[in-house]
Amino acid sequence: MIDLRSDTVTKPDDEMREAAAGAAVGDDVYGEDPTVNELEDRAAEAVGKEAALFVPTGTMGNQVAARVHTDRGQEAVVERESHVYKWELGGFAQHSGLQLRPVDGGSRGVPTGEQVREAYVAEDVHRPGTGLLSLENTHNSKGGVAIDPERIGAAAAAARDLGVPVHLDGARVFNAATALDVSVTEITDHVDSVMFCLSKGLGAPIGSMLAGSEAFVEEARRTRKLFGGGMRQVGVVAGPGLRALENVSDLATDHENARALAEGIADVEGLSVQEPETNIVLADVSGTGLEPDDVLDRLEDRGVRATPFGPGTVRFCTHRDVDREDVERAVEGVSGALA
Ligand SMILES: *Cc1c(COP(=O)(O)O)cnc(C)c1O
Repeated sequence: MIDLRSDTVTKPDDEMREAAAGAAVGDDVYGEDPTVNELEDRAAEAVGKEAALFVPTGTMGNQVAARVHTDRGQEAVVERESHVYKWELGGFAQHSGLQLRPVDGGSRGVPTGEQVREAYVAEDVHRPGTGLLSLENTHNSKGGVAIDPERIGAAAAAARDLGVPVHLDGARVFNAATALDVSVTEITDHVDSVMFCLSKGLGAPIGSMLAGSEAFVEEARRTRKLFGGGMRQVGVVAGPGLRALENVSDLATDHENARALAEGIADVEGLSVQEPETNIVLADVSGTGLEPDDVLDRLEDRGVRATPFGPGTVRFCTHRDVDREDVERAVEGVSGALA
């Protein structure tokens, strides 16, 4: 089976398993796990922030960030197709008591500076005030598009001028930097906090990092505990996470494989394939006359897995557990399934 549902399906390789087995550990709630401490230092350095916090999931990282940046009852400006708005169970409302103000970020999924200014609400006797702008890079729902630093910077500058902090859901921010051929800090320098996932294209079994200023991370550590995410001898997971940070340079291969996949299936009748910028390939299947789920059943019979992704659309995601040969076989599978 060639599993292209998500880059989260990657399994820890032998080096990661060894890193888990050999990790020095301690009680991380007491700050005594040396492997976690090293991972947090290295992650902070990687994204150019003062400090970082190890969290079990990207979702928890985003949720903790929102809680730390805001006061209950404030508004958060989010993009209408963003992960935090669409795929996190309305967590900003549930965990932080926020009212969300969704903005249409267009094909890149990022509001302009003008849109941020329009969405801003000043606090007064009637209005709650805007407490957060949340951005996303790469933007998953838009097809893994890599948002350039200027676009992030324009939205972030507008927010900061209004005194509003900016969080970046950078689950795949290293994919963005790789695709744009910029250093990741050129993107993250514009924001107050950033979450990125170790458990996606970087191949770790578990874990994400939330980075920001010392003061932000100190408060985030308390909020992580509040949300039930204080972990103990978690060096066994941070060890693989440290290995995952070494895998950034391999992301370019995933992007090449995504391009090969997109080119390979572009000619299949009934498919309209968006040109990939990173490791995500969106295919509009409505031209086949089939529903996405029926397309996926047919693919499954040919040994290929993908995921339904909104009306008429199927998502393929390349990752370090599929190589070029797998991609070629997947192209054959897709062609055969829809012939
Ligand atoms: C996967 C993902 C997350 C959440 O990560 P989990 O570890 O699955 O909770 C957040 N934002 C984006 C854009 C993602 O793709």
